[in-house]
Amino acid sequence: MRPLVYGRTATPAVRALEEALAALDGSDHAMLTCSGQSAIVVLLSAMLSSGGHVLLPDSLYATLRKYCIEELPRFGIEVSYYNSRIGKGIAELIRPNTQLIYCESPGSHTFEMQDIPAIAEVARAKKIPLAADNTWATPLYQNTTKLGADISINACTKYIGGHADIVMGLITCSKQYYPTIRRTFRNMGICPGSEEVFLCARGLRTLSLRLRQHQENALALAHWLSKQPEVERVFYPALPTDPGHALWKRDCTGASGLFSFELKPASKTALAAMLDHMQLFGMGVSWGGYESLILPFRAQRKATPEWQPKGPTLRISAGLEHSDDLIADLSAGFKRMKEAV
Ligand SMILES: *Cc1c(COP(=O)(O)O)cnc(C)c1O
Repeated sequence: MRPLVYGRTATPAVRALEEALAALDGSDHAMLTCSGQSAIVVLLSAMLSSGGHVLLPDSLYATLRKYCIEELPRFGIEVSYYNSRIGKGIAELIRPNTQLIYCESPGSHTFEMQDIPAIAEVARAKKIPLAADNTWATPLYQNTTKLGADISINACTKYIGGHADIVMGLITCSKQYYPTIRRTFRNMGICPGSEEVFLCARGLRTLSLRLRQHQENALALAHWLSKQPEVERVFYPALPTDPGHALWKRDCTGASGLFSFELKPASKTALAAMLDHMQLFGMGVSWGGYESLILPFRAQRKATPEWQPKGPTLRISAGLEHSDDLIADLSAGFKRMKEAV
């Protein structure tokens, strides 16, 4: 074991949490960073260099898209976005200078499941590293290493911390890529604070219990929503009607509590009447905490022509409340929406 030298590179608490998370993920190594976004930035900085090219899914985390648009061009790195359902078709998008393939399954906001094993087969044949953002499922419900990813990203900010009181990121990887990523990680000086590490380690102890309840609540809400006349469609891979259901069943051992839905066309006033007076649902951009959240969103999709919502789209993070109470809150919201028109 490497000696403890300086707080930025590891403390005993950081090391203990890294070991626990590497074990949970079935990975050789883990590195903790100060946010999920910084974990991604460390990964991209380690794997990409001037003149290189990276492949990203169209349904990627929005702040990563922003980073790619606002930062990467200055370093001479080309970015292309692929349709998240591309599977082995990714082979056609690989260029001689492709340095990294990145997945996020299911994707942010629209929850497309990706065929990670099919993409991994192509990546392996071309000797290109494959990374996967596993924040939605967490290592408990989806083992991206077994599915063929070399590197995995998690925002501990969400379910792993689980109490909406920390911001932290995790990179796990195989032996092969560890020296490269570890070098950049150390040089960038991105490390989590001590209190966050303590809170994250404490949150980890109840991850399995919390996820079970998040899943149960999300399933109850998603089933209920899919039967409401106000709702056009629900996006949640755990629903048998979801286009990604077969992949989810094959690759995941559970679903977390985050999903979205599209309403039938409704005015801004009607939507505001629903959202402004929710009793249990808060409006917030994060997710994975104990309280339920609801948030209108507009997804930017360029490589996914089938994404054309006609009505407002909303994302729900199902918390740990009783699902009957959450359904009553949504039901009252739909009633207000109808009355406002
Ligand atoms: C939140 C999130 C991140 C970034 O995590 P932060 O800790 O907020 O920086 C990355 N990927 C996904 C899928 C996320 O939802």
